[in-house]
Amino acid sequence: MEAQRIDADEIKRRVSILAVTGEVVELRKQGHEWKGLCPFHQETTPSFGVNPEKDGGVYHCFGCGKGGDLFSFVQEYRRVDFPAAVEYVAERYTSGHFVTREATRPAPRTPEPAPDLRAQWRALLPLIDHDRAAAFGCLTPETDSPAAAYLRTRGISPMFPLVSGVKYAPRWCPAGGVGKPAVVFPFWNRQGCLVNLEGRCLDGLFLLPDGRKERYLSARGGRKKEGVFLTPEAFRQPFVVLVEGAVNALSLAVCGVPAVATCGASNRPEWLPQACRGKVVYTAFDPDAGGEAGTVELARALAAAGIRSEWFKPPEDGIDWNDCLVTYGQNALRRALADVFPHLRAFGR
Ligand SMILES: [Zn+2]
Repeated sequence: MEAQRIDADEIKRRVSILAVTGEVVELRKQGHEWKGLCPFHQETTPSFGVNPEKDGGVYHCFGCGKGGDLFSFVQEYRRVDFPAAVEYVAERYTSGHFVTREATRPAPRTPEPAPDLRAQWRALLPLIDHDRAAAFGCLTPETDSPAAAYLRTRGISPMFPLVSGVKYAPRWCPAGGVGKPAVVFPFWNRQGCLVNLEGRCLDGLFLLPDGRKERYLSARGGRKKEGVFLTPEAFRQPFVVLVEGAVNALSLAVCGVPAVATCGASNRPEWLPQACRGKVVYTAFDPDAGGEAGTVELARALAAAGIRSEWFKPPEDGIDWNDCLVTYGQNALRRALADVFPHLRAFGR
């Protein structure tokens, strides 16, 4: 059967906006609307709403202000122009029964050719799923896994670890010895290649064959010293915040802060990913002697690499960012951070 040529308005009448948005957002019905977590900004409570009845189907996010119809959703999410969005919807959601008439409607606006950092980020994630993580027996941290349960006790909802590629390994033992359950964090080099995985023991400490005990154990043995742990926010803001550990990075990410964990690679700015280049860099290491020494070292190395950095500390001496999150809660920490980072305010957070 030959595909029938119809125009964009006709495709809009035949395809529900719920199908298009529901493919990337988990939607739940609330009154006339369907609500879910916005795919255009990071959040923990749903501010993204879809109304399939209004104006032939619209979406709107109260968090970031994005909104429109199913075509603008595809344009925004897939970074394509209007004709490509219509073609995509027709092909995907009418099983190829319909194709668009060419140039039925002029493209209302062509998105400027910005680097697609979201796509870069999405391209990174499959590496974890299918490459080394699988070889080490890592699983996705389902919401009821011990990894998710541990992170929840640290104030971090499962969504953030998921989008950051965090995994759960029931038996983590890269250095030999007895495997123990671990939450596993991926580390990337500046080209975006997965270079290491680091597991944090969820049951006491790892016991190494030589008798040493460690809380963290990387896929390459010991504590890894290369690559950084990234949160997707790092690709989306004009600044980055460097912290020491992955849990601290996640703690800031849940507050909208684009955090990157250097995890001991503090004196090696060449490992900073491309996502950090040309951005304002803040260092926010732990407020202890080690953190201060690391900060000084990093600031010097960043300056030598031509990158200006600013130092800022957690609001209280002796506690790290995750302690802040657990102690004060997400909303209070978010407000405190917005006072420190003008960019957070400027970007509507
Ligand atoms: Zn939004």
